Amino acid sequence: MAESFDVIVIGGGPGGYVCALRAAQLGLKAAVVESRGALGGTCTNVGCIPSKALLQSSHFYDEANHGFAAHGIKVGKLELDLPTMMARKDDVVKQNTTGIEFLLKKNKVAYLKGFGKITKAAQGAHQVAVKGLDGKEETYVTKYVVIATGSEVTPLRGITIDEKQVVSSTGALVLPKVPKSMIVIGAGVIGLEMGSVWRRLGADVTVVEFLDFILPPMDGEVRKQAQRILEKQGMKFKLGTKVTEAKPGKDGVTVKMEPAKGGAAETATAEVVLVAIGRRAFTGGLGLAEIGVKVSNRGFVEADENYQTNVEGIFAIGDVIGGQMLAHKAEDEGVAVAEILAGHPGHINYEAIAGVVYTWPEIAGIGATEEQLKEKGIAYKVGKFPFTANGRARANGDTDGFAKILADEKTDRVLGCHIVGASAGDLIMEVAVAMEFGASSEDIARTCHAHPQLGEVIKEAALGADKRALHI
Ligand code: FAD
Ligand code: NAD
Repeated sequence: MAESFDVIVIGGGPGGYVCALRAAQLGLKAAVVESRGALGGTCTNVGCIPSKALLQSSHFYDEANHGFAAHGIKVGKLELDLPTMMARKDDVVKQNTTGIEFLLKKNKVAYLKGFGKITKAAQGAHQVAVKGLDGKEETYVTKYVVIATGSEVTPLRGITIDEKQVVSSTGALVLPKVPKSMIVIGAGVIGLEMGSVWRRLGADVTVVEFLDFILPPMDGEVRKQAQRILEKQGMKFKLGTKVTEAKPGKDGVTVKMEPAKGGAAETATAEVVLVAIGRRAFTGGLGLAEIGVKVSNRGFVEADENYQTNVEGIFAIGDVIGGQMLAHKAEDEGVAVAEILAGHPGHINYEAIAGVVYTWPEIAGIGATEEQLKEKGIAYKVGKFPFTANGRARANGDTDGFAKILADEKTDRVLGCHIVGASAGDLIMEVAVAMEFGASSEDIARTCHAHPQLGEVIKEAALGADKRALHI
């Protein structure tokens, strides 16, 4: 007889494995199906973790190259050992994937290695067939299915990704040598993060973006400042430009592009081209059409406010349902679904999910942008504070950027925060907690912040919302 579970989660990424862990904590018999041979999904294997390992290593290299001299540290001739940098990155990934496997074991979650397909949708007894890595198929029965199959690279018409000369983020994480030149298509998060890695290591990087600005969902002022800082570091931008073709050849990749609003085409050549124009839901081979699970016209699985699809007992979370494609959003949806399945209320405040771009300085945003508040006609006040006026930032030599807090004009409730500056991703979490508690900018301003800390920029920005910043 087929083994049965309370919940089978298909996909072992941050959404899927966290969902299974929480379900097990709540007493449900849970299993995770994963086909890539390692747990952790896109994030741990070819996303968040390896990219952050390379961002950290390349940041050290860049600092040794350009930053140490000002501190009176002479390094002589600097040498790059790319194979060691890559091996360290692979080791970091391994530590994380094996760590997740340990967590599943510890919580008695079954790890079903193979590709999952929902073969039968029957209330209380859905069936999932798992084609093992050895080719053998096993069928399991489950009360609930959670689809957490994530996303894949969005292809660009006219361009074939060979992961050698024309790469996606996955190929950009394993380049065997530093290219002399790189054209990045898309000035989104991946373009700026991976573009930063290779620029720091010595590539001449040009980012081509369809829109007239970089980082589309971010606050306008932050976007502009971030672009200025990245340009100062040597990254080049070609905005309002559409790439129509990328042809690899012996002397590099020839890229054809034209103004997005129409006009004469031009060509440019680079050793490597990175395609980073977004990601789309991955649902291939899951059997959704056969069992009647609805998918939107953009390919995302449709789910209600409880993450249930139109088929009872089948749920979906993470990148595959769209929204912000972030690991922490997927994780929290995993927790929410597990709690709902165990009979508890599961809840996420989508207004307080921070987005962080791990360039240096970092770029981070939470809640509404000024553009969104204006569009909604919400009256707001702004408090802004530059890193250059912060003692610790000066001591560290990290004075680029600013923090901005947006608060409701009448109630003073914090509506958003946007930062470009050193450790912006860590700094923004104070505001995330404040927003979860419905805090006012006055609450943040009256919280005693340790000195000398970068976090004082947040306090000063909050004071600034009441026009009483102290150190500017
Ligand atoms: P995924 O992580 O994509 O996991 C889905 C898993 O399901 C995959 O392992 C896949 O193999 C498996 N799968 C699919 N179909 C089946 C099937 N039928 N049977 C079995 N297994 C299946 N987000 C951040 O928050 N911070 C970052 O710093 C960050 N950096 C990123 C850097 C890069 C280069 C990329 C590409 C993404 C990054 N992201 C980052 C985004 C983040 O990786 C995703 O938002 C996150 O992984 C989504 O989690 P998920 O669980 O929904 O899906
Ligand atoms: P993105 O949506 O962040 O950016 C894509 C960019 O490409 C946009 O600026 C878009 O205007 C541009 N673009 C689209 N079509 C184009 C074209 N034909 N020519 C030129 N430009 C074009 O997508 P991404 O950078 O590929 O990242 C994918 C997902 O992965 C994102 O949703 C992101 O949230 C996630 N991610 C997150 C992190 C992080 O949290 N630090 C890091 C990496 C990736």
